[in-house]
Amino acid sequence: MDIDKLIEQLLTTDYGGVEVKRQALVRLLQDPELIQQALRNLVPRPGSTSARAMGCQCPILDNQDREGTGTYVITSQCPLHWHKKP
Ligand SMILES: [Zn+2]
Repeated sequence: MDIDKLIEQLLTTDYGGVEVKRQALVRLLQDPELIQQALRNLVPRPGSTSARAMGCQCPILDNQDREGTGTYVITSQCPLHWHKKP
């Protein structure tokens, strides 16, 4: 099962009930690679519009220049990304 399906099972209110959510959470927590994928999917890219809407303080233009490179400019003032992998 891929990470998008797992996240869908965890976040939708009408997807199989508590037992399905428990199984999805256990599956996620057992796999470090899935955890990293979940973080990448759930925390928007530094400086992006959706990240800024969540309080991101990272630079916009510097991160637009780096799009697709996998590297980011993260400011220590950002409550969303500081000490977290994007
Ligand atoms: Zn940020």
